[in-house]
Amino acid sequence: MKIGILASEGSWYYRDLERAALARGHACTRLDFERLVARVGSAGETISATQLEHCGAQTTLPVTVLGGDGLASFDVILVRTMPPGTLEQVVYRMDALARIAAAGTRVVNSPKSLECAVDKYLTTARLRAVGLPVPETIVCEHEDDAMAAFEELGRDVVIKPLFGAEGRGIVRVSDPDLAHRTFRTLMRLNAVLYLQRYIDHEGFDVRVLVLHDRVVGGMRRRSPHDFRTNVSRSAIAELHEVTSIETDYALRAANVTGADIAGVDLLYDRQGRCYVIEVNAVPGWQAFAKTTGIDVAARLIEELQSGLMPEEPGG
Ligand code: ADP
Ligand code: MG
Repeated sequence: MKIGILASEGSWYYRDLERAALARGHACTRLDFERLVARVGSAGETISATQLEHCGAQTTLPVTVLGGDGLASFDVILVRTMPPGTLEQVVYRMDALARIAAAGTRVVNSPKSLECAVDKYLTTARLRAVGLPVPETIVCEHEDDAMAAFEELGRDVVIKPLFGAEGRGIVRVSDPDLAHRTFRTLMRLNAVLYLQRYIDHEGFDVRVLVLHDRVVGGMRRRSPHDFRTNVSRSAIAELHEVTSIETDYALRAANVTGADIAGVDLLYDRQGRCYVIEVNAVPGWQAFAKTTGIDVAARLIEELQSGLMPEEPGG
């Protein structure tokens, strides 16, 4: 297989995937969203890129991702980074991925699933639509609506950036004056206000890693001093035996976003009720691999190789 991986420079994930790919005889190339070039013209439609690393060596050679003759240089494009950017950049990158997928190259995760998972509102709405328990959530743009939502949610809310990750920018607010000031500031920044009822939890959440409709394993992320239990916020990862209910929730949650590889976050309140709070379509696995002893990169490469992952329908 020729595997193109969209990954940031020096990333642990690229190294890990490269190791697993090369050990299985696959060619592995690192690409960057910022170095994609899409051409539309008399020669048809092409997308090229600069190879930044290829089979263990640094390079800057151009490579065709999508050829005008419909030929592609890669069997699969793995998306291992979703760098923040302007709305224009993000939309263009997603469109380019969708064109590559439409031409018949497997893109993992699929552009549609990435689009869904990156958007907390869309994800939460879809989770709820298939009957999964989610925290009460209100999304709005105006500070007055946000204040009404704050009251409705019991004056103890978590405010999240709509497109955030790793716990960044997430705050808990229970003071009305602070809530009002926060909403006003966010409204001036033209932000979408995504509010959730605060789930009173015991300081841990459960991350379940799903790979193509199967649970790979689970870990607990415990954080004694921060309600945000992200490992990137120094939570401690512990091995967790995934229960049958957690398996059911995680598989349904991954399925509803369409992600082949997904990190599903589950949060328990003090009464033991379980909520699905997030589906991450570009999940990290450094802490997960260390905690569970599972070689996730190898599993992912083997899954791609066995061709089990469905192709993105053309269109
Ligand atoms: P991110 O994409 O930034 O990881 P999450 O929605 O997963 O955003 O939230 C990050 C962390 O914040 C979660 O892992 C959890 O510990 C905590 N958290 C999220 N939502 C709530 C909530 N409604 N109530 C209490 N804690 C929450
Ligand atoms: Mg999360």
